[in-house]
Amino acid sequence: MSGRPPRFPLSLERVAPSSGAPAAHRPQRPLADAADDARRQHLPTGVGLDSAGVRARMVQRLQAGGVCHPAVLHAFAEVPRHHFVDSALVPQAYEDTALPIGHGQTISKPSVIARMLGLLLERRAAQVAPLGRTLEIGTGCGYQAALLARLARHVVSIERLRPLHDLARERLAAWPRANVRLVWGDGMLGHAPNAPYDTVIAAAGGDDLPHAWLEQLAVGGRLVAPVRAADGRGQTLVVVERHAAGLQRRLHETVQFVPLKSGVA
Ligand code: SAH
Repeated sequence: MSGRPPRFPLSLERVAPSSGAPAAHRPQRPLADAADDARRQHLPTGVGLDSAGVRARMVQRLQAGGVCHPAVLHAFAEVPRHHFVDSALVPQAYEDTALPIGHGQTISKPSVIARMLGLLLERRAAQVAPLGRTLEIGTGCGYQAALLARLARHVVSIERLRPLHDLARERLAAWPRANVRLVWGDGMLGHAPNAPYDTVIAAAGGDDLPHAWLEQLAVGGRLVAPVRAADGRGQTLVVVERHAAGLQRRLHETVQFVPLKSGVA
């Protein structure tokens, strides 16, 4: 493992000086440049960073920690985690820690997200969108949804807290993806209109897995979620596979997620 990641700001964003020439005389710029400008405007003010290097080091640490799926590593390298946290937390955005996102909730640790994605992708055929149709419970700030969007054909992400749902919508607007649908609602009910799902991933843990998640899981599909441990203390990561003959459940390591709550707020 390499040492701690360097802190921001590492280098100043290279913002092109605006030309004083009237619009009609300005040289035509490619559309991609315009999209980059739009994205920069969403970066927290005063940060102005070139984060690709720091993100690449986070990816190296994930790899050193055993994450080996190329598509997962690529997604982590692409999605700017600092864009999803408050500006005060930007210096820690690429550390392997959970960070507060307001309303008593947290953005999950990158290594934990990577672990869950790895469990979902085990034995799934290598293809363009290996997660297939995905249901995420607990959109939070939208970071994991942005990762899922790069690995899935279609993502439905549900959040019960309206302010977080709105925040995620705002943050994801900088990287519009036609394959993500954000829903404000009670994720314990899943989301029947887009079911069945090839993969289901929950970022909050309850006493047991809600029936709706299992019902909405496609045959050949996989679910990964934290659930309260058998001894009532802590949570365990659970993987469920739906086979034609029924459900198969496997317990994995102890984890720590925010509680799964019912209803909306
Ligand atoms: N994936 C998120 C992690 C957010 S933390 C991210 O990348 O930021 C888990 C989220 O689950 C919280 O925002 C919490 O409000 C939400 N949550 C808890 N119970 C829920 C439920 N029944 N339906 C939908 N969201 C729920």
